[in-house]
Amino acid sequence: MLVLVVLAAVAAVVLVVRDTRGPGSTPAAAPTSASAAAATTSPPAPTAPASTAPPPAPPPAPATPTFDRAGQSIDDPNSTWVVVNKARPLAPIDHAPADLVTIAGGYQLRAEAARAMTDMLAAAAAEGLGITVQSAYRSYDYQVGLFGNQVARFGQTQAEVQVARPGFSEHQTGLAADVGGGGCDIESCFATTVEGQWVAANGPRFGYVVRYPDGRQDVTGFKYEPWHVRYVGVALATELQRTGVPTLEEFFGLPPAPGYTS
Ligand SMILES: [Zn+2]
Repeated sequence: MLVLVVLAAVAAVVLVVRDTRGPGSTPAAAPTSASAAAATTSPPAPTAPASTAPPPAPPPAPATPTFDRAGQSIDDPNSTWVVVNKARPLAPIDHAPADLVTIAGGYQLRAEAARAMTDMLAAAAAEGLGITVQSAYRSYDYQVGLFGNQVARFGQTQAEVQVARPGFSEHQTGLAADVGGGGCDIESCFATTVEGQWVAANGPRFGYVVRYPDGRQDVTGFKYEPWHVRYVGVALATELQRTGVPTLEEFFGLPPAPGYTS
């Protein structure tokens, strides 16, 4: 009997506390104002200007207002956030991802990046845009051959502008791909095609960003490459788009990497 009385008393106190903490003191302003608006008989809320022209679609707002920039490693070559540039080679330098899968065209990407790429290309195709992968994972050994070839043809200086040294290429992470379409494959004209502009605008929805944007060679070490996309996951890609920070280096506060340090 005593227990019941105590329980009843506790319940009463809880009810009173919840009551007094009601609308006035909770931080949940939105429901309060919404219910207040609903309670009144005022005309349509000013927050829904349905009569005006539809606004230009902004980048999707992130689910969380604060983004944890330390959420994943930028050093671990297995991390989808790994930052590889001319000052940050893969470690170990001949790293090879363990979860490569083959995608359309016979190219390889890490499983997560491959799924996202397949989804992205399917979404583009649904809008009538033919975008194809032209290059994806490149092993350390492959890059050795590719780089050596470029050096032989153009000399060391020019080769280093065009192709990353072995161990310094994002393609070795299995998270980067070169895409083409609109009659322009792996060339700067891709930026002017509907396909290229679609990739830049919609890539983040699938976790892809244009890794070497225009005007950032001093930061990334590479000229504008509208065709080179890098998978970083949807959360980071949309955060980069939302904030307008153009490079991973700037987002993570890393020093610019315009060239090799040795
Ligand atoms: Zn590339």
